[in-house]
Amino acid sequence: MDVSHIFEELNDAQREAVGAAPGPMMILAGAGSGKTRVLTSRIAWLVQAYQVSPLSILAVTFTNKAAREMRSRAESMLGVPLGAMMIGTFHSLCHRILRAHAEDAGLPKTFEIIDSDDQYRLIRRMLKELDLDEAYWPPKQIQWSINAHKEEGRRPGDIKKSADQQQQTLISIYERYEATCQRSGLVDFAELLLRTLELLQNNELIRNQFQSRYQHILVDEFQDTNSIQYQWVKILAEPSKNLFAVGDDDQSIYGWRGARVENILDFEKDYPTAKLIRLEQNYRSTSTILNAANAVIAHNSGRMGKELWTDGEDGDLITLYGASNDLEEARYIVEQIESWLQSGQPRDSVAILYRSNAQSRVLEERLSNAGIPYRVYGGLRFFERAEIKDALGYMRIISNVHSDAAFERIINQPTRGIGTKTLDTVRDHARAHAQSLWDAALAVIEQEALPARATTALQRFVDLISSLTDEIAKLELHEQTETILERSGLLEHFRNAKGEKAESRVENLEELVNAARSFEMDEDDELDPLSSFIAHAALEAGEGQADEWEECVQLMSLHSAKGLEFPLVFLSGMEEGLFPHQRSIDEPGRLEEERRLAYVGMTRAMQRLVMTYAEIRRLHGREHYTQPSRFIVEVPPKYVDEQRSYRVHNSNTASYYSPSTVNNSSSDFNLGGRVSHDSFGEGTVMSVEGQGEQARVQVNFDEAGIKWLVAAFANLESV
Ligand code: ATP
Ligand code: MG
Repeated sequence: MDVSHIFEELNDAQREAVGAAPGPMMILAGAGSGKTRVLTSRIAWLVQAYQVSPLSILAVTFTNKAAREMRSRAESMLGVPLGAMMIGTFHSLCHRILRAHAEDAGLPKTFEIIDSDDQYRLIRRMLKELDLDEAYWPPKQIQWSINAHKEEGRRPGDIKKSADQQQQTLISIYERYEATCQRSGLVDFAELLLRTLELLQNNELIRNQFQSRYQHILVDEFQDTNSIQYQWVKILAEPSKNLFAVGDDDQSIYGWRGARVENILDFEKDYPTAKLIRLEQNYRSTSTILNAANAVIAHNSGRMGKELWTDGEDGDLITLYGASNDLEEARYIVEQIESWLQSGQPRDSVAILYRSNAQSRVLEERLSNAGIPYRVYGGLRFFERAEIKDALGYMRIISNVHSDAAFERIINQPTRGIGTKTLDTVRDHARAHAQSLWDAALAVIEQEALPARATTALQRFVDLISSLTDEIAKLELHEQTETILERSGLLEHFRNAKGEKAESRVENLEELVNAARSFEMDEDDELDPLSSFIAHAALEAGEGQADEWEECVQLMSLHSAKGLEFPLVFLSGMEEGLFPHQRSIDEPGRLEEERRLAYVGMTRAMQRLVMTYAEIRRLHGREHYTQPSRFIVEVPPKYVDEQRSYRVHNSNTASYYSPSTVNNSSSDFNLGGRVSHDSFGEGTVMSVEGQGEQARVQVNFDEAGIKWLVAAFANLESV
């Protein structure tokens, strides 16, 4: 069979990797060296040269979008559809396995995925039940600790009993959390993975079945697998040993979430015969960008050591821009984007990356003022928006009345006169009888344990859900959605609410009907469409990246930029305390993870890289004086074009962040505040430089445009 075309666009090392005989293989290589391309070509090659059935291939990628892309690229290499091939994220693959074997995994068939928001609410409720004060038991921290245990494969019973009271309490919260989830058929993200692993470990029949089905397993971004994920992969690959892993230790950025870069080392131990291939040529970036990124990552110790070179052009110098404040930073970035677009480049060739999602707001404002379409990844994506989750709440309880998470979400949304007292009675009853909230509500009504008005209100809710369930039984998914929105009163509730926000909520709800209309189920999905749609929504919302890739400027956190590439990349907010993050500065291990994140960010850029920082940044409602990030200083000056009079590289940029804050009330001008001037009229304060008599203020006047004024003479008044 002719496989030559698969090899045409590969270099020698890549060919060696793609064409190697089946068996364990690790590709360890730097950013942009073609790892993902090699993995995709390998799939095509296995199918074509070895006549491997697409059914027996399992490929794990980092996002659902990456999975779709991989499938379609492999399809176009082969010219045949690969619909039956399992490609997806760890979470989506585990979800499919659990759906197919729910009972064996000890789950009800209608089990429901809860996202981290639901998980948080559940934990808060538990704390209340246990009479624990949130001030001493911060729910976020408990959530984190439960997830961390699960990610290491520890059930409450596996945690050593200790004399430490605190530890004991934590274990009992974890226990209670598990019991509640089990009772209501709820599965959180960490549970998806752990449950599947346990299923494979404990059930020989199912293990054999999957082991013989998946003859070839391929894993992208292997450096960010956690311990459960690696064990899962290892079990599946046990008989065949055909495990093809690609990764880059320098891009391991999820250590804080349990990822183990050590899995790369373990791989070599676990598969002593594994072939190790290194790719050293970068095809993505100009040599300036690549050299700069290499120089930054060279500051890390304990690297596995890789070479990376390119024969591409030098390209432009990296632009470094020091803004006086975050508004001005946004102004600069948007201006640069405007001239890039004017030169005929498409909008989706641009990405603005940031360390913290909170940075996006100012950038968004500026972009929308300039009329540039943009899209924010991370943050609140469609399926995470409150109104959408409300609507999904109704769908969930219709699909599974015992879903406590859904019950809590919608019992009083929109308000229907069910007060806290009533709810507490229901909760108490549920706890005392180990029942779901739904069953408890029925019992409470039955026993007339409540005042008549409360009973009536509760009864009306129960009737609503029951009759809705009947009503929609025979409808198409999108009609079901429409009916639920109308009958639940949600749509009306938001229609009657005032303001732009409410309007956009109505639009979003309408969009949900569209989403339902175009929803396609997986071929082997055994669920009814409604349940399948709910699961889809939960997985989409939990993902690090969004879906559609419209022709828009892309805004996203550095973490979600992994694996992607863009001709023009902005790294914004390059400041000590923000990036590297304050939390990481004092811990060498975490600081190195931040540096890897900087490396990931820089290596996303193909042609142009712009790094910006602001001398004053407003974060969490306060203004901070900042220092440029050490990662800027680590870029050799010869690669940098600095767009500011004062030079970072020559000045003594201390590697410490001194969080001096400006007290708003005592400073004369609030950034973003409104002022008025005798002859220029009203405007917005863009930036302030200097202090006291020297202070200069930049104001964007509504009529007169942007002006610099000396504060002492300008007679500006706040409005
Ligand atoms: P990352 O570490 O960021 O995930 P990667 O190693 O997966 O990067 P790819 O995304 O596969 O790298 O490839 C980077 C870019 O280089 C892509 O645009 C890809 O199409 C291109 N590329 C890879 N190999 C070659 C090649 N042999 N010839 C031309 N272009 C290539
Ligand atoms: Mg890749």
